[in-house]
This record gives sequence, C-alpha cells and structure tokens, in this order.
Amino acid sequence: MRKSNIVLLILLVISNFCYSQEQQGNEKPNIIIIMADDHANRTISAYGSGLNHTPNIDRIADEGAIMLNSFNANSICGPSRASILTGKHSHLHGVMGNGFKYDNTQTTFPRELKKAGYQTVVFGKWHLNSPPGDSFASWKILKGAGGQGFYYNPDFISSNGKETVEDGYSTDIITDDSLDWLNENSENPFCLFVHFKATHVPRMPAFRYLDSYVNDTIAEPKTLYDSFETRESYGAKAWMKVPYKPGKLYEEHDFSKNIYFDRMTDEQRKKWHSFKDVETLKERKLIAEGKLKTDKQKRSYAYQQFIKDYLRCVDGIDDNVGKILAYLDQHPKLKENTIIIYASDQSYFTGQHGFAEKRFMYEDGVKMPILIRWPSKIKDGTKITTMVQNIDLAPTILDAAGVKIPGDMQGVSIQPDLITGKDIKGEKAIYYHYYDHGKHNVPRHDGVRTDTYKLINYYTDNVFEFYDLENDPDEVNNLYGNPKYQSKIDELIAELALKREQYKVPKEHFKKPYVQSPNHRKKKNSKKKVNLKNKTFLKG
Ligand code: CA
Repeated sequence: MRKSNIVLLILLVISNFCYSQEQQGNEKPNIIIIMADDHANRTISAYGSGLNHTPNIDRIADEGAIMLNSFNANSICGPSRASILTGKHSHLHGVMGNGFKYDNTQTTFPRELKKAGYQTVVFGKWHLNSPPGDSFASWKILKGAGGQGFYYNPDFISSNGKETVEDGYSTDIITDDSLDWLNENSENPFCLFVHFKATHVPRMPAFRYLDSYVNDTIAEPKTLYDSFETRESYGAKAWMKVPYKPGKLYEEHDFSKNIYFDRMTDEQRKKWHSFKDVETLKERKLIAEGKLKTDKQKRSYAYQQFIKDYLRCVDGIDDNVGKILAYLDQHPKLKENTIIIYASDQSYFTGQHGFAEKRFMYEDGVKMPILIRWPSKIKDGTKITTMVQNIDLAPTILDAAGVKIPGDMQGVSIQPDLITGKDIKGEKAIYYHYYDHGKHNVPRHDGVRTDTYKLINYYTDNVFEFYDLENDPDEVNNLYGNPKYQSKIDELIAELALKREQYKVPKEHFKKPYVQSPNHRKKKNSKKKVNLKNKTFLKG
C-alpha cells in the first residue's frame, strides 16, 4: 500500500472513531435528580390520596413512570441518602444513623458517571457529616443546623471553599442555583442533584404559601388516634407523636434563642407572625372556650397545624419542580434526552399512628416516593408495580447511562421495568434495617415486606410483629402468633434470614443492640459540638 493511502486510511479510522464517540456522547442521557426531604407519598397527588394537589410533580408521572411499590432501606436522612448514592444497605456504606460520618471515597454512582465523562454536581441538602467528595465535579450544599440547613436566608458552602449566606427561601435558592448551572453547563452529559431541605422540620413554608389552607380542614388519617392495641409497646412509647405546642405571638418571642428565627430579618419575622399570630389568637379562643383540653382535641388541633405547614412546604417544592420542568420545556432537545427523577429520602408518617416522623418499618416509614420521566424511553403514564428500593436507584441510573454497574452494588437496575412497564425484576421481598437505637425512643429493628405481608423483628427484645397488608393496610392488627397465619409467618421468618445473608448483614449487629450513632452519644454526654474532622458541617 502506498504511504499516502495508509495516511488516508488512518485519517478515515480516526474520523470514524471521533464520529462514533460524538454520537455516543450525544446519546448519553442527562440526569436530573430532584430530591426532597421527608416528603410523604400521601402528599403527592399522583399517589392518589386526594389530600392535596401537586401538579408539577404529578407531571413527571403523567409523562413518565410512577413507582407504586418503592421503599427505602433505613428510614432516616443520612442512611437513605448514602444508600441512594452507593446502591448498598447501611451496614456496607457505613451510615447507619444520622450521626455517622459518610466515607466519601467509596464507590458511588455519581463517581462512576464522572469517570464516564459526566459532569456531576449537587446543590442543596447533603447532610452526611462529610463533604460530597470527588464523586462530584462541584457542589454547593446547605450548611448549619447540623447539616440540615436553614429554610430562610440559608448558609451554603461550595466545593471551592466559599461560604455564603443567601437572602431568601431555601427551596427557591437551590432551584435557581441549579437552573443557573444548567444554563451554563448543559453542553456535555450531566448528572445534576437538586436536593431540597423541605419538608424537614422545623417546617417553615415560603411566605407565598403561609395563607394557604387557612380555612380548610385537612382529612385525618384513620390511625391518627391509634391506641396500639394488638401491637408491641414500641409505637405507643415512641417520641414521634404529632406535637401540640401552644403558639406564641411576635412580641412574646426571644428570637435570639431560636437559630431558625435568629437569622431572619425583623421584617421577615414580622411578616411570618402576621400570619402565625392570627392562628395563635384563634387557638387562644379555643382554649378559652374549653375546646382544647383533652388529648384527642389537642392531637386533632396539632395535626391541622402540622399538616398545613407540611403541605405549604410541599407547595413550595412543587412550584420549584415546575420551574425545572418549564426550563426543559423551553429547551426541547435537552428535555428529550434528560432523565428527570423526583424522589424523597423516605416517605413520612403524616399523622398515621399519631406520628409525625419516620424510622418505623410501618408503611409510611418504609415507603419512598419515586417518579421518573425519560421521554425517549418511558411511555407516558407508566405504573411500575415492581418492588423497588432506594439501593436500586444507583444501578438503574448507571444502566440508563450505559455505564458498568460495580459488582458490589446491592441494588438491581429496574431500567427494563421502566421501559416495558412490567415487573421484570421480580423481587419477592425488600429488606429493611433501622439502626438508630433510642432516637425518638424507637428501638433497632429489621424486617421484610412482600407484596402482601410484613414481618418486623425488634431483635433487641427478640419480638416480632406480622401484618397482612392486603386486609389490614393501616397495620393496626398484629397477627404474630396467630395460628391461622403460622405458615405465612414461618415463610417470612425464613425470608428474613435469607435477606440478612443475601445482603451480608454482619451477625454481630444483632448482638450489640445498644450501639447508637456517634453523634447521639456525644450529644448526650456533652453540650459541645461533635468533634469530627470537618467541623464546618456540624456548626449551628
Ligand atoms: Ca429525610
């Protein structure tokens, strides 16, 4: 072959290679993960409770898929977030409770995406007691209040070390930051995490929603006044009840004693109280009339106060989800090739069993909302009944991006389920394990949940609860020990043993029942801040 022909051939091969690389690059889907905190399935209208209306979040389900059987693996912020990132259960990623420090050098799906050429970036709540680390090209996360961040005028810390205090409302700021980033950086494949603080306590809605629901009576869940008959005593003893706290008027506050109000301007505090003082005066009228005396009256009143602020925070999330969807509508090419996921680190008891918390393996503790839109792959209105867990998100996202799933991830990609709308994964049961013993007076427990039954093991006391979810969806009838169900109970006990083995849960976990998270232990013994290496994340 002549020299010039060889050169021509090489050039042709190189240009073909570049072309195919470019094609491949263009085909890589972008990923936006919008994650709220403690957002209950019951307060997303796509899940069908009829309690409120979330048109923008619902749009993701209408134009994509909703996971009807989606669960977390350990119902508190840090552990669930670490499971989402790593695709592993708590004992393997190491964040067993909120006080544990996340090892940010471990394998995560954003790290794998970054290696494959993705831009990975996170805005908003991180809350893992160590920075996001090099899984992310850049980040700007909430700082203060033990990593929980503030609703009003929040503090942020960025990957370049810059610390800022920004005027405004956290959900709005996090969305604006994300869209500003998107405006500058959507040329190459990206994975953008938009992480809201809402709806976490202390629930502070945006001013624009403070007068919503004022004259409404929000439906109570059936189990708001649960007496916990038939069940073990843990639920009754848990410090998770919807709290009744008498309101205070503006002039009765010492704002310097409250970190969330201390940082607001006086104008903001007055605006807040222009709404809240109306409620407090109404409450005092009820007290004067003797209508707020009994425990039931107080629970009922407290529920309305709680759920209204909760829904107001949800409304602030929903309109910001709308902003992100509108941005994609304005950029149709980008929209077509962008997977958008809406999720929360876990669902939340919005009054069920009298609770306003998570932690327990009862339905609204173990659930987790997940909605996914992927215009080119997922059909409109797909309903996924596959049993999905937070550990499945990492492999699913990597699969969608065409990136190899690391062998040690415990989750399973549900991409085939999303595309076909069928239960391809075929998971029989999910495994749950709550470790934060004693927090809110909830003991450690693990368990399995199938489509129709649930077994919970409070192993520190070696006791069980068993529920028939088809006939008792509210879980008020513990059937453990009921001879009619014995074969089913035995089946789930065997399933629990299998799951512990499958997920490699160390046997010593069951022998050391009273290990609490480091944060919890230190706080109990000392008022000093926890002395971890990166103090920045623990101030406030
Ligand atoms: Ca949470």
